[in-house]
Amino acid sequence: MTFQARTWHGEAASPLEYVIYVSGEFLTSSGNVIGMGGPRFKFFNSTTDYGLYGHIVMSDGALNSYGLAHEAGHCLFGRFLNSNQNSFTINDPSNPGSDHSNNPQNLMFPTIPNENPQIVSSQCSTARQSKIVLQNASNSRGRIIKNNLTTMKKLNARIIAKMRFMKKDTLRPPVKRRRKLA
Ligand SMILES: [Zn+2]
Repeated sequence: MTFQARTWHGEAASPLEYVIYVSGEFLTSSGNVIGMGGPRFKFFNSTTDYGLYGHIVMSDGALNSYGLAHEAGHCLFGRFLNSNQNSFTINDPSNPGSDHSNNPQNLMFPTIPNENPQIVSSQCSTARQSKIVLQNASNSRGRIIKNNLTTMKKLNARIIAKMRFMKKDTLRPPVKRRRKLA
């Protein structure tokens, strides 16, 4: 098994996303899972003063698919819904209460579309407000000045626990050609 780590859209000092590619068609030997992605806290002081990065694991089988875009979506949806630190969610804003879209054509459908995936405006505006996107602009060169380490660890553990129960991401099989009638 080989691993390759890359940073995406980020400076070396403060990458926004970590993407790890694992050799093999799928992430598990028994199954068809091609990727997993979610945000992680880089630091936490309050529900407005915090930093996130994206953590994504992909299989070889996801190359040339919308898998990476889908996993980046999971990362960018991480946000607090209000000033309560227990309100952090990674839910799809277009489908409240769910991690995924229920529209089979949407990029965030768990069986990832293989062509022309759609993104709706609520998904776009949530992604644009993500701390993964905004934090580098507000924080001077990504330096962390203050951090509530205990809460940060608790929040990260909660994300990882939640991700364990999410519907797993798979690719849609290519459209089968119609069989000739005998
Ligand atoms: Zn997914």
